[in-house]
Amino acid sequence: MPDLDFTTVRVQDVSRTYGRRRALAHVSLEAQAGRVLGLFGPNGAGKSTLLNILATLLRPSAGKVLYGTHASETAGDVLRASIGVLGHDLYLYPDLTAAENLAFFGRLYGVPDLDARVAECLTLARLTDRADDRSGGFSRGLRQRLALERALIHRPRLVLLDEPFTGLDDASAHILIARLRTLAADGAIVIMATHDFDTAETLVDDAVCIDRGRAFPIVAGSGSLRDRYRLALQETR
Ligand code: ADP
Ligand code: MG
Repeated sequence: MPDLDFTTVRVQDVSRTYGRRRALAHVSLEAQAGRVLGLFGPNGAGKSTLLNILATLLRPSAGKVLYGTHASETAGDVLRASIGVLGHDLYLYPDLTAAENLAFFGRLYGVPDLDARVAECLTLARLTDRADDRSGGFSRGLRQRLALERALIHRPRLVLLDEPFTGLDDASAHILIARLRTLAADGAIVIMATHDFDTAETLVDDAVCIDRGRAFPIVAGSGSLRDRYRLALQETR
C-alpha cells in the first residue's frame, strides 16, 4: 500500500466528549518529523483519548487533525498504513513465536520482502535468538520490545506510544529510549504519552502538559522536566 508523505501532524482545536464527560477541550498542538513529543499529565487527563484520535481510532467531537495537508477523514486507509501504534495492550499472540507474531502483522500490512523484514525486526528487538520461542513465555521487557517492532514493521511515519515505560526495568527503559531516538533520527514523528518524567527527561524534544482535557506547552529551559511541568500546571489553575 502506498503511504502518505507528511512531516508534521497538527491537532487543531480538538475536543472530544464521551456522553456528557468531556475528555478533551480545544486541544491544539504540533508534532514534527525527527522529534519526540511527550504528552505528560495525570491519570484521566485525556492523553490516551488524544493518542487514539491521532491514530484515527477515535473521531474528535470537534476540531481536526492534519497529517501534512491531509485530513484523517479523507486519507483513510492510506493514512492508517503510515501510522504505528503501541498501546497499553501489546496485541501479541502468546501462542505464536516472536517471528510468527511479526510475520502475522507484516502480512496484514502487506509488507514487501516479509522474511527479510521479520529478520530485521528481530534484530532491532534484540530477539534473534528467541525468534522461535512463543511470545507468551517472554518477560514484560521482551514482549514490549517485540510489540514495538511489530508496531513498526510497516515503517510508519507517525509513531504513537501510550505509556511505553510501564512495567519496564531500567535496562529495558534505556533500550526503548535509544530505539525511539533512532526512530526520530530516521525521520519519524514520535508522540508518546507518559507520566514518567524521570525516564522521559532525556528522550523528549518537545513536551506538552495535558490536564483535565486541556493542553499547555511545557516550555524548554532550565530546571527539570518535572519542575517545568509543575510550572505549566500552576499557570493554568
Ligand atoms: P489518560 O490517558 O490521560 O489517563 P483518558 O484519555 O484515558 O486519560 O481519559 C480521559 C477522560 O475520558 C477520563 O475522564 C476517562 O474516564 C474518560 N474516558 C476515556 N475513555 C472513555 C470511554 N471509552 N468512555 C467513557 N469515558 C471515557
Ligand atoms: Mg491513558
